[in-house]
Amino acid sequence: SANTLVVEGRPHMSNLFYQTKAPRPTLARAEGIYMWDTSGKRYIDGSSGAMVSNIGHSNPAVLAAMRAQMDKSTFGYRLHFQTDASEALADKVASLTPKGLDRVFFVSGGSEAVESTLKLARQYALTQGQAQRTKVISRYPSYHGSTLGALAITGYAPMTAPFDPMMHAMPKIPAPRAYLDGLDPTDTATGLHYANMLEAKILEEGPATILAFIVEPIGGASTGALVPPAGYMQRIRQICDQYGVLLIHDEVMTGGGRTGRFFGADHWDVTPDIIALSKGFGAGYVPLGAMIARNDIVEAVMNGDGFIHGYTYAGNPLACAAGLAVLNEIEQHSLTENAAQMGDALKTRLEAIMQRYPVIGDVRGKGLLLAFELMADRATKEPLPAAFNAHSRLVDIAYDNGLIIYSRRTRGGIAGDHFLVCPPMIVTEPQLDEITDILDQSMQQLMA
Ligand code: PMP
Repeated sequence: SANTLVVEGRPHMSNLFYQTKAPRPTLARAEGIYMWDTSGKRYIDGSSGAMVSNIGHSNPAVLAAMRAQMDKSTFGYRLHFQTDASEALADKVASLTPKGLDRVFFVSGGSEAVESTLKLARQYALTQGQAQRTKVISRYPSYHGSTLGALAITGYAPMTAPFDPMMHAMPKIPAPRAYLDGLDPTDTATGLHYANMLEAKILEEGPATILAFIVEPIGGASTGALVPPAGYMQRIRQICDQYGVLLIHDEVMTGGGRTGRFFGADHWDVTPDIIALSKGFGAGYVPLGAMIARNDIVEAVMNGDGFIHGYTYAGNPLACAAGLAVLNEIEQHSLTENAAQMGDALKTRLEAIMQRYPVIGDVRGKGLLLAFELMADRATKEPLPAAFNAHSRLVDIAYDNGLIIYSRRTRGGIAGDHFLVCPPMIVTEPQLDEITDILDQSMQQLMA
């Protein structure tokens, strides 16, 4: 049956349940950009898991740092002890953020990081005598996490619909979708067109009720690496300033160098008030996330009631030691720069594949946050029929061929199939050829 695994040669019912109905092969080991299952089959990790394993698997420096920390301590409750590991990581994070954004709160993942930003924003508004500011505007499509607060600001119906009645209904605006709307993404008029939807929404809701606006600098899973048009991020910042709305960047997927800059927003030189970071921060070694906030916001809250927030594992020393080693590896091996270079090289290869398959309607992204989208018609942008099931079939074909990619069906509010191709930032040119050869072959099988 669907949940039957073979363990040590015998059928075994899995007691775990995840979204997929059929179990995947069992992971035996992983190294660099490669993973092996227990039958010995090798896979290229072409999506770094879910854009997580940014520095590759089994990095010796990270493993050594974890072992060294394990010999000292693996847990010290943050209200009982400071730890060298969490202090050192907070300093390192602050050295990577814009000046004035130096205050860090560690958590265990992306959803927790996003939840934390919402609560800090709320507590800050209270210190400013703005108790009526309760609404967080977000975008659709968007993905901000699995917990109910993060879901309330997520614009992705397949994940939110069953829970709608349990969440605060939060206002949302469309994410820019220039390629679908026939607008030129390099024209700042396009950026203004979409950004001004935020101003319209603020005015519609009443500016005095808006706490924050949250945005993924480059759309992740929900839009498939959709890069905002020229001028968009800057105009968003202006609008937030004008109405006293806090600007939160969800850098859970874009943070950590994958886009070719340490933070995705660095491409536009825009500084948010609060940042959520995770995924490539723990890089698959440990569950780790962070909220990074403007110093004066944190001081106002800490001088008032203090930050009313929990998370038992926040600042866990083992996680922090691993996180510090990850950031050091990124720096010492110029992995952000490699992501920029290899990203350009991979994008060129994906564009070459697009020439061979008319069904590929768009190739997009920055650095190694790249995606392509399948369409029935490049001119009209009509999606493939849902029944063709391209998003799951191509992933399965590639998986059989030894390449892992990540897909979703949704785009700009319209159903469509997109695929993220996001190998670890240590990837080399010959490995890019391996990836694109398998992808090409898999496309051929899909369309046969
Ligand atoms: N925000 C963004 C932009 C994400 O991509 C994700 C995960 N896909 C999350 C938040 C939630 O992170 P986690 O799954 O680690 O809770």
